[in-house]
Amino acid sequence: MVADNAADSTRESNEKTDVLSSTQTVVKTALEKLGYPNEVFELLKEPIRMMTVRIPVRMDDGSIKIFTGYRAQHNDAVGPTKGGVRFHPDVTETEVKALSIWMSLKAGIVDLPYGGGKGGIVCDPREMSFRELEGVSRGYVRAISQIVGPTKDIPAPDVFTNSQIMAWMMDEYSRIDEFNSPGFITGKPIVLGGSHGRESATAKGVTICINEAAKKKGLKVEGARVVVQGFGNAGSFLAKFLNDAGAKVVGISDAHGALHDPDGLDIDYLLDRRDSFGSVTKLFNNTISNQDLLELDCDILVPAAVENQITEHNAHKIKASIVVEAANGPTTMEATRILSERGILLVPDVLASAGGVTVSYFEWVQNNQGYYWTEEEIDKKLHEIMIKGFNSIYNTAETRRIDMRLAAYMVGVRKMAEASRFRGWV
Ligand code: GLU
Repeated sequence: MVADNAADSTRESNEKTDVLSSTQTVVKTALEKLGYPNEVFELLKEPIRMMTVRIPVRMDDGSIKIFTGYRAQHNDAVGPTKGGVRFHPDVTETEVKALSIWMSLKAGIVDLPYGGGKGGIVCDPREMSFRELEGVSRGYVRAISQIVGPTKDIPAPDVFTNSQIMAWMMDEYSRIDEFNSPGFITGKPIVLGGSHGRESATAKGVTICINEAAKKKGLKVEGARVVVQGFGNAGSFLAKFLNDAGAKVVGISDAHGALHDPDGLDIDYLLDRRDSFGSVTKLFNNTISNQDLLELDCDILVPAAVENQITEHNAHKIKASIVVEAANGPTTMEATRILSERGILLVPDVLASAGGVTVSYFEWVQNNQGYYWTEEEIDKKLHEIMIKGFNSIYNTAETRRIDMRLAAYMVGVRKMAEASRFRGWV
């Protein structure tokens, strides 16, 4: 199985509470800087709708297991909500809420006609059969069917979910809806209305941000030493793109450990040996820890795994001059401050990882109009959108003398705040 992001986690639930509260803090500051009254923050600090569901699934051993699932819809003033569904044993309600806010910000940054949504199911797909995964995927759609749909809330892949899971979910929704409804979900297989370029879209968006950030720092990507944490969907495609562009990928990691070679790793070989969950390091003896990986000597560091990886404990040891966040929430707020003080250019997640939802938007548009685009057309449009998003945030950060995260939150929150006010909500 190919996941949308790599995932491993021993995160504590209090870290997840921190993820939500620190997101709320930055949203509040962004709204204040934009001059909005406090009631706008009161509306936007939590999702407008949050559903918790219990999903009974008949397991292969004949027993029935009850799974818990969530769907958060942050704000639908701009348009339907949009965002992935993650399958992970550590998923919590608080995390899903924070992730839905981040999706709203991403949509605002790349100017899509969406608000943010996010879903999660507490399960471990690494220990489930194909049939059990199908059961949980279909059960989730049945449970949330009243609040989702092509004009309400459009799911997509995320950690440990893939095009097969999207296909089952689309099929289940189409049965309930009694129509063929490809626009209900994105990240589908091409034959079911999926879009060219969707699988590699997150990594492509990150690559575009790396190129732009390198220009600002006067660094050449060709020959630059890069470390990529995470070898899931985003990390593996990214390592490949950077390697092909002549960068030297000196470190990669997965959930089990990390590999380092100052002369550059053989990325094609590692991709070839990677399993469907993005694991490859267990084939090697000479691994280093994920923490050591982050502190390696390099020019560009890309955290592409999970939340809370760069914290106040290691931010002062980061050697890269550019950090580009391909994962959602890999750097804490305190670490963001430390990196910024040290003059390290941090390209925040809500911008860097927006390529996935951008091509999801293209997929939804193609489904709605029933007319399909070529990979070249998608590539061109993705480039235009990402470069525009990068520059508007970089320029906001420069003009206001703030870090790129706060600038991204300001750019991201503006449209939904404005739309909520026009609708007379606040
Ligand atoms: N899960 C991806 C994200 O976090 C993609 C969401 C989508 O395509 O709607 O951005």
